[in-house]
Amino acid sequence: MSRIAYVNGQYVPHSHAAVHVEDRGYQFADGVYEVVAVRNGHLVDLDPHFERLERSLGELDIEAPMSRAALGFILKETVRRNRVTDGIVYLQITRGVAPRDHQFPAEASAAIVITARNAIPKVAQREAGIGVVSTPDIRWKRCDIKTIALLPNVLAKQKAADAGAYEAWQVDLDGFVTEGSATNAWIVTQDSEIVTRQTDEAILSGVTRLAVMALAEREGITLIERPFSLEEAKTAKEAFLTSTTSNVMPVIEIDGSSIGNGHPGTVTRALSELYERFAKGD
Ligand code: PMP
Repeated sequence: MSRIAYVNGQYVPHSHAAVHVEDRGYQFADGVYEVVAVRNGHLVDLDPHFERLERSLGELDIEAPMSRAALGFILKETVRRNRVTDGIVYLQITRGVAPRDHQFPAEASAAIVITARNAIPKVAQREAGIGVVSTPDIRWKRCDIKTIALLPNVLAKQKAADAGAYEAWQVDLDGFVTEGSATNAWIVTQDSEIVTRQTDEAILSGVTRLAVMALAEREGITLIERPFSLEEAKTAKEAFLTSTTSNVMPVIEIDGSSIGNGHPGTVTRALSELYERFAKGD
């Protein structure tokens, strides 16, 4: 089956989908994006993605090209046309096409690209747990905006791949873990409290992070939003990461040292199961 992409008002064969050479996303990374999970053909937790998208657009002063309802329709239609049952839909909005000049163009209308594809669920990794490596956080000071400027994240993820690890946890100048290259970072303390960094401008407010926070609260698990150091993470009882594509993923190794007994921990497994049920819509 051939894939279909949505590009600026048209559904086109994926192999021919293209943007203009002077799209500001291409030249300046002047744009934002969202990735929404698809489960059984349904978009998971769509509203918080829209909220974050609107916030990112607002912070960059890019006018939303269409209403939430219209965007929702196109996202679902792209999923349908690509026959995605379990996978992701990717949405990118840039400031649009204009002659190359750093300042905002006087006239440009936002450009949209939407793609969707099936993806193999990471069941085995969630059962066995994964390893992460640490890396200095070399990003800019507005990591709360979900921009398409992802080069430091790309380098971090490549470092993980080179080390045979699943993800890289980025560490700030004070030795605190900020987040992964594309995931939020969590630990479980010896008292079985879960800890994740507060959402400031140093990290992205993950939609999965928010959902897990709500599930933890419902289950009576104590949650603390504060920074934790790499050292604290290495000696934590459990660790895990969250994202739209990883869900709740147990971390069993950091820089080669085992976390806890080297297997996914009890709290992590409980949260992982709760999240799976939530994502499935149970
Ligand atoms: N942090 C970063 C830097 C990310 O790119 C992502 C994934 N978009 C996340 C955290 C997790 O966010 P979400 O749960 O919304 O996928």
